[in-house]
Amino acid sequence: MHKNFKSIEKTVFGRGSFKQLDEIISPKRNDNNGYMVFIVDQYFKGKELENSLPVRPEDLVIFIDVDPNEPTTEQVDVLRDEILFTNGLPAGLIGIGGGSIMDIAKALALMLTNDGSSALYQGLNLIKKPGIYHVGVPTISGTGAECSMTAVLTGPEKKLGLKCEWTIFDQVILDSELTASVPVDKWFYTGMDTFIHCIESREGILNNAYSMAYGEQSLKLCRDVFSSANAGQNAENDDKLMVASLMGGLSLTYSEVGVCHALSYGLSKVFGEKHCYANCLAFQHLEDYYPEGVAEFKTMLQKHKVVLPQNLSKNWSEAEITAMAQVAYNLTHMWNHAIGSDWKEKITIEVIKDLYRRL
Ligand code: NAD
Ligand code: ZN
Repeated sequence: MHKNFKSIEKTVFGRGSFKQLDEIISPKRNDNNGYMVFIVDQYFKGKELENSLPVRPEDLVIFIDVDPNEPTTEQVDVLRDEILFTNGLPAGLIGIGGGSIMDIAKALALMLTNDGSSALYQGLNLIKKPGIYHVGVPTISGTGAECSMTAVLTGPEKKLGLKCEWTIFDQVILDSELTASVPVDKWFYTGMDTFIHCIESREGILNNAYSMAYGEQSLKLCRDVFSSANAGQNAENDDKLMVASLMGGLSLTYSEVGVCHALSYGLSKVFGEKHCYANCLAFQHLEDYYPEGVAEFKTMLQKHKVVLPQNLSKNWSEAEITAMAQVAYNLTHMWNHAIGSDWKEKITIEVIKDLYRRL
């Protein structure tokens, strides 16, 4: 079966395009109870962006601190109940921030019309009704969450996305001016998520002309941003990384991620490490699986003077390593892609535990 996937309905790209938000959402304002909800990364509270939000008196602005933990099902449930209790069903919802805010916004848009806890809907096509109109405005580039069909949440049992066609944003605004304030470490970790998406999408049995076309272009942009003579944070590169993020996301949508993401999910579930940082922690030790990608990654680390911690596993208990290996092992689609359909003959819990011990 070939994947039949939905894309973002409308996309605006360009520096300063955030100013078009008011005009973009205006035609939707009278839907449902006639007000908009802005879900904004707490980082922007008191900053210029707060004053430029096109907020009307009836609207609701909610700032969310996305550190140190990844979004949870409980957090989304509480927000949903608060919004519905205060003003009823909003006309639309605008998420402004990084991957965490993108996921919260996508999940909330769905949960405002679906009953019960979001934990009930972690998985593929479990959502029963379409959500409300939702807009994504990324402010840090790399995860591809702006274009993916999933809203990743950590629940009581699992870290898994609410995945269906209705999850996809109706509108995305790609204005790289908003990413100028990202500090260098976060810029690097989140940017590397794109780089790793492309390497993993390419190195596996599910790659194909479609995923490769997006992946190769995204890798080229990543190299301009992270390893060329003009590497670093500047206006031109901020534009490029924003497009690389989108294309890396499209590449993996039509292929799959691999070993690094499987290990990363274990680190997030057991230690609460954030996705992009956890990827970097794992990827540096995966030269057996991705030799060229890891060599390039290490050159980029050095170029940007990013130092990743070593010997972390010395402080982990056997039980913690086993728990992470179990989470990783269960991501069967990733191993199938990365290793091949006979992956169970090569990858065991013990093999995965040894990979974690490299960290
Ligand atoms: P994030 O949203 O967690 O933000 C990272 C940090 O950058 C935070 O401290 C935030 O406040 C800060 N930040 C964001 N924009 C900023 C700006 N313009 N200036 C200064 N600081 C800024 O980071 P992320 O790496 O984009 O996202 C990680 C999350 O994305 C994880 O929860 C992960 O599970 C999720 N994710 C989702 C998908 C998907 O397809 N849905 C894919 C990959 C990752
Ligand atoms: Zn990722």
